[in-house]
Amino acid sequence: MNPDAPIFDVIILGAGATGLSAAKELAKKNKSLLILEAHSRIGGRVATCPNGIELGPEFIHGSPPKLYKQLKIRFERVPDVHVVAFKEPDFVVWIKNSRYWDPLDRILKHPPKKQTDYSFMPYFSRMEQASDFEKKIISSYIEGFIAADPQKVSARNVYDTLKSEASKKAYWPSTGYENILKKIFSRIIRKGMIRLNTPVKKILWNKNFVEVKANDQSFFSKKVINTLPVGVLKSKQVKFVPQILQLRNALSSVEMGQIIKIIFKLRKSKWKKWMKEQLPKNESFAFIHVFNSPICVFWLRNTEKQLDLIAWVGHLEAKKMKNYSKAKIVQYVSRETAKVFEIPFKEWKYYIQQISFHHWDGDPFIKGAYAYFKPNGDKKLRLLNKKGISHKLYFAGEAFAEDRAGTVDGAIQSGKEIAKIVLKSF
Ligand SMILES: Cc1cc2nc3c(=O)[nH]c(=O)nc-3n(C[C@H](O)[C@H](O)[C@H](O)COP(=O)(O)OP(=O)(O)OC[C@H]3O[C@@H](n4cnc5c(N)ncnc54)[C@H](O)[C@@H]3O)c2cc1C
Repeated sequence: MNPDAPIFDVIILGAGATGLSAAKELAKKNKSLLILEAHSRIGGRVATCPNGIELGPEFIHGSPPKLYKQLKIRFERVPDVHVVAFKEPDFVVWIKNSRYWDPLDRILKHPPKKQTDYSFMPYFSRMEQASDFEKKIISSYIEGFIAADPQKVSARNVYDTLKSEASKKAYWPSTGYENILKKIFSRIIRKGMIRLNTPVKKILWNKNFVEVKANDQSFFSKKVINTLPVGVLKSKQVKFVPQILQLRNALSSVEMGQIIKIIFKLRKSKWKKWMKEQLPKNESFAFIHVFNSPICVFWLRNTEKQLDLIAWVGHLEAKKMKNYSKAKIVQYVSRETAKVFEIPFKEWKYYIQQISFHHWDGDPFIKGAYAYFKPNGDKKLRLLNKKGISHKLYFAGEAFAEDRAGTVDGAIQSGKEIAKIVLKSF
């Protein structure tokens, strides 16, 4: 170790919602900090384009957290209007469905036992008889919303996610998700504690200090908070020396869910004409859940400036496209979208002004959308989160959140919690 090298109190790996949130709490207590971030920007999965399009998260599920309200962030309520579309080989049937939540509500009536956890499917088959239609809604929710494999995901994971959404309310932050982060963490961002373009490769640790290697440089600290996504931790592209068996064990019960989200900015006039012809009763919709299509759900976002149609491919279908190039994904999803709306593909381009897409699975510093748990996976991860390793290494992030795992507010909360744990350990 270079005797002149500074030793920070804490090095934080990753400048997503979790890392920034932990940094804010530690900075309040005057801890010396360094945040190392692989990308050329902060925010991680929070990625708002200059025209307001959200490549990553866009909804606040349930009531907005108090913190957002205190910061006077404006929201728009997402209309809770659902349509189900059955795509048959030659036609598509659309049914307005005011009972979309019913089969999901039934899961809430059967809470899994607190002590044991099991995979969702057997738990589900023990429930009162569900119709094929209800089963389709439930599978589509698991693959689409939870971004999980219904055969592997734990019953508690499904139950907890549904419970956190029980109000069925959702909001769009009016000025974009990235602005929320910038507003909450402006002091941290201004203080110059963040090093961008610095992908961490190795973490050497012993009972005295931690050495973090990135860009052929070494950084030293008393403690490290790791907020790298589960997909990155599982890929082993970041090495811990010595290895951490508890981490390997915990990661074996958690998977990174895959999602493909493509945003079509629509030509308003063309789209409105289509709506008038297809939905003669002047009906509208917010969400269209599609059966028999690789795209499990679409939704519309209509603002003063633009009208976006978002195509969302759930976990299992997204996994099938794992080795597709970006261009092939966009082409394939565009074709399938045109089919659902029964628009000849050669005409589809006239409906579209712009297509936006970020390949989260192909992003080497994210490697997926958000995590889901196999049975008891949540407990193992949270144990690691609460105890840390030898008072030196700590883990946090959306997957480690006690509440609202897989969300931005869950990540912010996880950052706050880990900061408390680390502060106590000094
Ligand atoms: C398509 C999509 C849609 C979503 N929709 C919603 C939604 O509507 N609502 C909602 O609440 N949530 C949603 N989410 C989930 C939400 O985005 C995440 O839960 C949250 O942003 C995770 O924050 P985090 O800080 O834990 O992780 P991240 O934001 O992933 O931060 C981790 C950081 O670590 C960095 N990193 C990785 N490897 C290295 C390395 N080797 N060295 C240094 N840095 C590294 C990454 O670049 C990243 O900046 C969505 C996610 C996706 C992908």
